Amino acid sequence: MSSIPAFELSQQYQLIGEEIGQAVLEILASGRYIGGAAVENFEQQFADYIGVEAAVGCNSGTDALFLALRALGIGAGDEVITSSFTFFATAETISAVGATPVFVDIQPDSFNLNLDLLEAAITARTKAIIPVHLFGQPIDMTRLMAIANQHQLWVIEDCAQSTGAAWAGAKTGSIGHLGCFSFYPTKNLGACGDAGAITTQDTEIAARLRRLRDHGQTQRYVYEEIGVNSRLDAIQAMVLQIKLRHLEAWNASRRQIAERYQTWLAPIPGLITPQAPVGGESVWNQYTIRVASPTSSQTGSERDAIRQSLQQLGVGTALYYPLPLHAQPVYSHLGYRLGQLPITEQVAQEVISLPMFPELSQAQQQQVVYALKDLLSAEAA
Ligand SMILES: *Cc1c(COP(=O)(O)O)cnc(C)c1O
Repeated sequence: MSSIPAFELSQQYQLIGEEIGQAVLEILASGRYIGGAAVENFEQQFADYIGVEAAVGCNSGTDALFLALRALGIGAGDEVITSSFTFFATAETISAVGATPVFVDIQPDSFNLNLDLLEAAITARTKAIIPVHLFGQPIDMTRLMAIANQHQLWVIEDCAQSTGAAWAGAKTGSIGHLGCFSFYPTKNLGACGDAGAITTQDTEIAARLRRLRDHGQTQRYVYEEIGVNSRLDAIQAMVLQIKLRHLEAWNASRRQIAERYQTWLAPIPGLITPQAPVGGESVWNQYTIRVASPTSSQTGSERDAIRQSLQQLGVGTALYYPLPLHAQPVYSHLGYRLGQLPITEQVAQEVISLPMFPELSQAQQQQVVYALKDLLSAEAA
């Protein structure tokens, strides 16, 4: 049996490689490498796809978050509520603008912020909430926006893993005040390098974002504020234009794969499958299961052993995320105690992300399921 990677891009490249090669050569010949028509066209197409007034391209998803916080004037003395069970950049950018991340626990079935705990975390210094649509699963944006509006807070959606996902018929990134997207190669819409974008319905905020990504420049060599250099390359914009046309089909394929996993894995004891959202549509950037820990002293060793055995059986997996952000060395000064975010801490010991990419075949998926079945039943015996 051949081995199955957790993620791979070569089959996708076979499908669109020629078209991309052609488009990239045209950009190379044009001599216009940063900004220009390729970038403007992609921004328009992406704004139309998400259903917003404006999309502003930038260098990465991390920069998208940083620029979003800057555009809203969030900085020193401010608090921003977010999840501790996410990629580091979500909190890193809050710190990078001088504000303080405030971590709220998650729900064990969706891995997203537990909205029941949100209001208790709001203080007089809270300026914004950054919900993360983790693994492609949309959070309940109706309820989140109601809480945010009541307390007059900004909402910046971290859509790095949720390009194409929807809540109540609206795409993630069109509901909050700002949406931040990553086009890192492993994301649902991935460039051939680093790239990102910010979406918004507010054209004034969009104008400030365009200024901030270009050194705070308003006219050539006139600077109104301190910005950064975070523009989108024309080559990446062309790649993204081509890939955007395939995104709905790729996301549909991910959904089909997720449904099969749900059906095939449900009967296996000792294994908890992720719950599909009610009221929204996930795009399954990851399909992440939990293996229940047998003891209360969780170290993740049980999970690590299963991952290792799967690897020996030719099944690649990924681990998102082993150490929650409130437990990171860099945030020790924030004073979080062990046990303060119990669900976050528990799932960090239990999660395994299974192979998930649009081209994953039924036969490959079956191999993954058989391997898990064998391992977990051997354990139970
Ligand atoms: C990938 C990711 C980011 C950062 O995006 P980059 O393009 O890698 O900078 C931010 N938040 C989440 C949840 C991500 O998964």
